[in-house]
Amino acid sequence: MLLPNILLTGTPGVGKTTLGKELASRSGLKYINVGDLAREGQLYDGYDEEYDCPILDEDRVVDELENQMSEGGVIVDYHGCDFFPERWFHIVFVLKTDNSVLYKRLETRGYNEKKLKDNIQCEIFQILYEEALASYKEEIVHQLPSNNPEDLEDNIDQILKWIEQWVKDHSS
Ligand code: ADP
Ligand code: MG
Repeated sequence: MLLPNILLTGTPGVGKTTLGKELASRSGLKYINVGDLAREGQLYDGYDEEYDCPILDEDRVVDELENQMSEGGVIVDYHGCDFFPERWFHIVFVLKTDNSVLYKRLETRGYNEKKLKDNIQCEIFQILYEEALASYKEEIVHQLPSNNPEDLEDNIDQILKWIEQWVKDHSS
């Protein structure tokens, strides 16, 4: 059976991992967290002193994922999307959270002042939405509100329905 690949993106803290894991368990699709994958495989290319974090080796991440992505049925979770091959994804969801809600979530994570400010700005300027629009066909890019548990349920229901329809449309 053919299964679609789904990209979940958005500013850190918007709820990609929460949604991705729940979707995977309810749909049977495979969940891949690119941050975790990079950490496990040490897929890094240097260190960013300003942001105090390792720099992702995007080419190695793409190589690492290529086989699974060509098989289909993968949910990818990452706060970036311009380096993935466009052909990988059948649909892209950009999660979106109100500033005050996001601020509290990131504060709970223990982010320092600068990291908090940078991430809130990232959300205000819709950086990830713009990146998604620049990287994928507009008609497959969708924004989803992610402020509360009701949003989460709505998003899961909506995406499960979309998967079901996609599978129907792609079965012969
Ligand atoms: P991301 O993977 O995008 O960084 P997470 O999934 O880790 O975000 O979520 C960040 C925090 O926000 C977690 O504490 C999570 O429980 C909470 N959260 C995520 N989505 C929602 C939502 N729809 N409603 C309320 N809290 C949420
Ligand atoms: Mg996450």
